[in-house]
Amino acid sequence: MRLDIITCLPRLLESPFSDSILKRAQTKGLVEVHVHDLRDYATSKHKSTDDYAFGGGAGMVMMIEPIDACIACLKEQRNYDDIIYMSPDGELLNQSMANQLSLAKNLIILCGHYKGVDERVREHLITREISIGDYVLSGGEIAAAVLADSIIRLIPGVLSDESSALTDSFQDGLVAPPAYTRPAEYKGWKVPEVLLSGHEANIEKWRHEKAVERTKNRRPGQFGSDSDL
Ligand code: SAH
Repeated sequence: MRLDIITCLPRLLESPFSDSILKRAQTKGLVEVHVHDLRDYATSKHKSTDDYAFGGGAGMVMMIEPIDACIACLKEQRNYDDIIYMSPDGELLNQSMANQLSLAKNLIILCGHYKGVDERVREHLITREISIGDYVLSGGEIAAAVLADSIIRLIPGVLSDESSALTDSFQDGLVAPPAYTRPAEYKGWKVPEVLLSGHEANIEKWRHEKAVERTKNRRPGQFGSDSDL
């Protein structure tokens, strides 16, 4: 998979991709992440990428020209499955969207800043708008990193144990059961006996029951059918 992330603050995207799983995914050649600085596509004398809002009011608006130039340049080189704009009023990101997007070959992710982008970008250049939650961030970079992380970890081969992603919350319509590691007892707080029993079927049954219980308590009515819960 190839991800092209367009931003006016490329440095904000350096660290999320330079450590741990997201770094390893790139080193293994399973994903390529390219960050594009909008300033490189600015045509004005001062290389500005934003301007005052027509009609007045507080907050700058990101201009269409550099964004259009950057997207056009990328589209000349390859086809994209989606051109995504991170936006607080977009579709709410969830696991099934991450699953679907993890099958894509090429994606563009546009990060907004200030008041957001000129509306014509959204009308004419973007194919999909995604939000990471009903709150407002100062920029789309962190949201883009969240989206990218949720997608990249699902690409086969990225996680060292592939079954790990399948047992995470939401994959099977349930949240994840509790997990424990050594020591088996700490300050008198014990790990559930069944997990130490080595009896695989019982452990599986216990985990499923706990996942169902947690889902009922924490996400009532959101996942699974009545027969599952
Ligand atoms: N004026 C806009 C907010 C702009 S916030 C409004 O009220 O809707 C600046 C940028 O941060 C946005 O363009 C978007 O790219 C990003 N952003 C902010 N909150 C976000 C969220 N919840 N999900 C995804 N992107 C977000």
